[in-house]
Amino acid sequence: MRLVVLPGDGIGPEITAATLAVLRRADEVFSLGLSFEEQEVGLARLARDGSTCPPSVLEAARAADGVVLGPVSHNDYPPRDKGGINVSGELRIQLDLYANIRPSRSRPGLPHFGRTPMDLVIVRENTEGFYSDRNMHWGVGEFMPTPDLALSVRKITAQGSSRIARAAFELARRRPRKKVTAVHKANVIKVSEALFLREVRAVAAEYPDIAYDEQLVDSMAALLVRDAQRYDVIVTTNMFGDILSDEASELSGSLGLAGSINHSDRYGMAQAQHGSAPDIAGQDKANPTSLILSAAMLLDWHARRAPGRDAFARAAAAIERTADALVTDPARRTGDLGGALGTRAFAEAFCQALQA
Ligand code: NAD
Repeated sequence: MRLVVLPGDGIGPEITAATLAVLRRADEVFSLGLSFEEQEVGLARLARDGSTCPPSVLEAARAADGVVLGPVSHNDYPPRDKGGINVSGELRIQLDLYANIRPSRSRPGLPHFGRTPMDLVIVRENTEGFYSDRNMHWGVGEFMPTPDLALSVRKITAQGSSRIARAAFELARRRPRKKVTAVHKANVIKVSEALFLREVRAVAAEYPDIAYDEQLVDSMAALLVRDAQRYDVIVTTNMFGDILSDEASELSGSLGLAGSINHSDRYGMAQAQHGSAPDIAGQDKANPTSLILSAAMLLDWHARRAPGRDAFARAAAAIERTADALVTDPARRTGDLGGALGTRAFAEAFCQALQA
């Protein structure tokens, strides 16, 4: 399995180095046959080559079996015509990574901030919605007809809604509780949200073994705090999924623990849920768990795409177990969880603890 590794900005290089150390250790323990190609992206690449994401990055990603992307500081990028390409958005569009899978799980022994424990996965549509860099064939989905009037276009398609719904129901089939909740705002956004729901309901009818219900997005935000344990798989549109998944993972213990992958039917990309944390960059303070767990999700995704890849699934499960053991042990936590370990020491402890 050949992985392209893109360290990104801010804490990206630190947490990517930690993740690579864990993947190399998993390769030793489980004989996975991993190889890595590292490419610089983001502000450092902009300074060197005039673009945060030159075409060679996309070519390498297309030729690989998977991508590990560190967080990027796209808020600080110049406009696209000056080389500031949002690396994350660009890879999602160019590789058609329509499904963003974002689990949030509380762990015994680690405080959670919601009123109940949780074990849920948010399945977020990733290629359309309100995100102005990905909802137009040409140009961007935001306009300013006058200096005091701004308009945003939101794109929802039947095909995009149907395929994200199918990803959610397939995932629910692999989980013990077998339940999908569609989150929407069809009471107010009556056309595009109704189209999304129409497609999700049509897919739900094909999965009679999966329980199905629906929830308005605003009440969902409250219910995640009050009673998150009632949810299993949540399927929703791009922006709602982006916001609710940060809320859910923080409530489960910390945003720094939340893994995530983006996938199409052909490509997979591991990416932490959080951003580039410039406030702690270069200080050995970042918690790399989110990117490590994202890489484990990528191994698991790879395992499910073809028979004979059981070692990848076992490696992914071992990484999950090791993360649980470390973050629930006060002596082996990073600073964001009240511990004393720096990024490098945490990665070393992780590699020592990772076993078959
Ligand atoms: P952020 O997620 O980077 O940081 C929010 C807070 O959480 C900060 O206090 C930070 O120190 C802390 N934090 C985040 N990750 C952490 C970790 N692994 N360990 C310990 N603490 C951690 O959000 P932000 O400050 O709003 O955004 C910073 C930059 O990241 C912006 O340029 C934004 O556009 C970008 N961003 C990128 C992605 C991505 O690449 N996927 C996602 C979100 C934001």
